[in-house]
Amino acid sequence: MEGVKVKPSPIEGLGLFAVQPFKAGVTIREVNVVREITDEHPLRPELGERADHCDYPDGRVVLIGPPDRHLNHSCDPNTYIRYEAGRCFIVARQDIPSGQELTCDYRLNVTGGDAWPCKCGTDRCLGTVAGDFFELPEAFQREYLPFLAEWFVCRHRERIKSLG
Ligand SMILES: [Zn+2]
Repeated sequence: MEGVKVKPSPIEGLGLFAVQPFKAGVTIREVNVVREITDEHPLRPELGERADHCDYPDGRVVLIGPPDRHLNHSCDPNTYIRYEAGRCFIVARQDIPSGQELTCDYRLNVTGGDAWPCKCGTDRCLGTVAGDFFELPEAFQREYLPFLAEWFVCRHRERIKSLG
């Protein structure tokens, strides 16, 4: 585990922190995907597997392992997830100094998910994490366009086009 470490977060529980500076656009690390969750191989709560440690790339459900499952949500995130040929990477959205907590916006690349209260504490916090990209204010949607996954853009081409 290079470049990052896990420790208590002011946002929620444990967080993922930079232990070196990262320049905007740099790939910080590949996300540790444990396995795909399917009807045949569902989550095993008895082993500590949790739905809130899952990600949803391109209609699939995958279980995220440590340390990446500690990547907290922020309404003003400093990273985003890049999806590439079935793999996921944490990429710096801006210059990140050593010691800063890494965050991403859970509202990217999702629709129809649950909403829950947000405690990110940033100036532009909306107070809830809506589980749907299209429920974000349009200004946010436009800002996030370059960071959306290709499969998400393909699935929602018409709605995204209407953002101009
Ligand atoms: Zn927030």
